[in-house]
Amino acid sequence: MRRGRARRGARRAKAKKTLGESRLPAYGIGMTLTRFNHYLIGAASDRGSIREHNEDYFGIFAQETDELVRSLGILVVVSDGMGGHLSGAEASRKAVESLGEAYFAAAGAAGARLEASHANRLRWAFLEANRQVYETIGEGHNGMAGTTCTAAVLLPDRVIVAHAGDSRAYLIRGGVMTQLTEDHSIVGEMVRKGVLSKEEAARHPHRNIITRAVGLRGNLDIDLGEPVGLERGDRILICSDGLFSMIDEREIEEIAAKGSPEKACRKLVKRAKEEGGSDNITVLLAERTA
Ligand code: MG
Repeated sequence: MRRGRARRGARRAKAKKTLGESRLPAYGIGMTLTRFNHYLIGAASDRGSIREHNEDYFGIFAQETDELVRSLGILVVVSDGMGGHLSGAEASRKAVESLGEAYFAAAGAAGARLEASHANRLRWAFLEANRQVYETIGEGHNGMAGTTCTAAVLLPDRVIVAHAGDSRAYLIRGGVMTQLTEDHSIVGEMVRKGVLSKEEAARHPHRNIITRAVGLRGNLDIDLGEPVGLERGDRILICSDGLFSMIDEREIEEIAAKGSPEKACRKLVKRAKEEGGSDNITVLLAERTA
């Protein structure tokens, strides 16, 4: 499915434009800064310099008590919607909100059983988000909308990442950035086969065609990574393609490693806009602080 082109219609998402620290859940477009015992999280979403609307979305979700934040983790999500008229924006918003709801809905009753696997809960939440987008906006509703979705569960000492589509998650450790996700896109596959370099892929005319997305079909194959151990000072960056198609990874690495997460997010968005900003840009940066 091809993203981009004209995306028209007024956004009716709850646009969260606030600056400063937010109360949870924080989601939407605009900017936020959220502080937990173990993590400091900044996020920014911007329509870019050309598009009329922002069809990206992000979410930061956690339970209220420190104990639940430790045991269930903080769920962070970035999505990039596609589809005509309003549907791309609706798909990205719906996916983020259902993912956040579903991940923690499983948490209430079952207590100990859920300690078994954060990964299973994350997988289940993706399937639930897929079902909701598919049935309300996607093909199950005679629509043609879908969305990328890259999510991370931040636990005190590790992170679990899951995704469908080409929004990316990176680990930044000691100033070095490593991609944790594989792009589900035509050019992503060409890079893995050695046909294209990553730099060529970022500027390829077909870079918008993605091979997996939330809400496109009744079923969904997600990539669910093994848990990655995090040390104090490590950062997780999640972003939509509007970032890495505008500025190269070396520059992203340099900016994302420095300053507060919130400032780094602002700067990344600013740089992507300076370099053309031809797509919506969403950046979420979480630092393990303790
Ligand atoms: Mg995009």
